[in-house]
Amino acid sequence: MPSILIRNATVLPFTLQSSGSLDLTPQKTDVWIEGDRITQVAPSIEAQTDQVIDATDQLLIPGFVDAHTHTVVGVLEKCAYEALPLELWMLYLPPDQTLDPRMHYLCSAIAALEAVKNGTTTLQDDLYALPYTPPEVFEATAQAYTDLGIRASLSLHAINKPLHQTIPYLDQWLPVEMKEKLTAYVNDFSIGHWSKLFQDLYQNWHGKAGLITTMLAPSATQRVTPELMEKIGELSTQYDVPIHVHLLETRTQAVTGLEFYGESVIQFAKRHGMLTHRTTIAHGIWLTPEDIALVAEAGASIVHNPVSNYRLCSGIASIRALMDAGINIAIGTDGMDSFNLFHGIRTAGLTHSVIDSDYGRYPRSADVLKWATQGGAKSTMLQSDIGAIAPGMKADFVLYDLNSLSFTPCHELPIHLVYAEDGRSIRKVFVNGQLIVADGKVLTLDEADILAEFRERLPHYLKLRPGFHQQAETLRPSMEKMYQKAMAHPLPIENFSAAGLAALKSN
Ligand SMILES: [Zn+2]
Repeated sequence: MPSILIRNATVLPFTLQSSGSLDLTPQKTDVWIEGDRITQVAPSIEAQTDQVIDATDQLLIPGFVDAHTHTVVGVLEKCAYEALPLELWMLYLPPDQTLDPRMHYLCSAIAALEAVKNGTTTLQDDLYALPYTPPEVFEATAQAYTDLGIRASLSLHAINKPLHQTIPYLDQWLPVEMKEKLTAYVNDFSIGHWSKLFQDLYQNWHGKAGLITTMLAPSATQRVTPELMEKIGELSTQYDVPIHVHLLETRTQAVTGLEFYGESVIQFAKRHGMLTHRTTIAHGIWLTPEDIALVAEAGASIVHNPVSNYRLCSGIASIRALMDAGINIAIGTDGMDSFNLFHGIRTAGLTHSVIDSDYGRYPRSADVLKWATQGGAKSTMLQSDIGAIAPGMKADFVLYDLNSLSFTPCHELPIHLVYAEDGRSIRKVFVNGQLIVADGKVLTLDEADILAEFRERLPHYLKLRPGFHQQAETLRPSMEKMYQKAMAHPLPIENFSAAGLAALKSN
């Protein structure tokens, strides 16, 4: 078994204390790695080893977990739109059928290259697809991650209701032909076939290369039938895998629950077996106090995606209330314009320090760093393997140059990590004991070749784009009408900023 000795690093252990906070006390120490795991963290380790790395003046911390992302769409549609509400933005998403598996491989590789070069060592990639992730797409993506050597939890995404039945009011405004067309996208969905597909992918990929795990991803409660939700609940228990679901990302979705079920989508998810300790809720912005209590009681996680939440005009998550309820919080990019989690980390730190006047209740850098590591690890159900620097943990860690601009002068390391660093001080990234990045260069995949091949294939995609944009433009007037009506619908809570609320009320 190959071994590596990291000498004289400044280690922040990130280990979970009994108080629930992380140990972020800097220690000058050595770290010994045998195979894929850390076996010792101690000063002056005496060991026969294959390789010694001098980490004097380098910070060593665990890699981050991007706990919610969509890599393919994120790469293809990077910076394609100004801020636009989710419901309108989604109309322009490419149907996955238009891309061949190789293009999926390239997009996932590009996303993962950016992630790993910026200190993310685990991706939770929700492979958005209509009506479900085709197996060849899942496999191409998983192959990109194993080739690169990054850890990833991959979803079999599912949608088995047509668009006009997933959004309030829309049904009455769309012509019959459009509704038939939208129905045709999900017509072939069979719960039996989809379950079998999950079981096959689980058999073939779960645990592959010590890097890949699988999860079940019903797109959102309103996008799947109760029968499918119940099946997903069963499969999650049977295979002990996460359920990854978008809930209450937008104000419209909060209205959707009330209009469709007469209750919140959180309550609806719970009634159909989808709210458990294995559940991760992506976004979770528009939760009522009752919803927050249900999520806490279930032991579910919430992934905070601040950059995406603001880009898609979704609102401000009630992070302090989630923290007070003891809910596990993770951070994601949602694949929005960038896969550098530092953007989300800094935005998370900044946003929640302006929401009220009680500065004693603002999240600390230590909280935000916990969300980016332990919180994400729990959401992927890998908390006993990743998220900390301690014997027995997987060797997923990052070395930062403490003589860099971000760390000079150096005061409080956690604060530097949240507010000053952005990935540029990274010198080495290890995943599963393997050196993946050294001095800005990825060692496992040829980045230039990947980008060149992507550029070569991109015109084919760009040619297809006007085709699906035409459908979007046809749907847009009805969607805009729906949006205005949903914004006018009263709710027990409001999660736009006070300035936004004043504007909402004056409309
Ligand atoms: Zn998402």
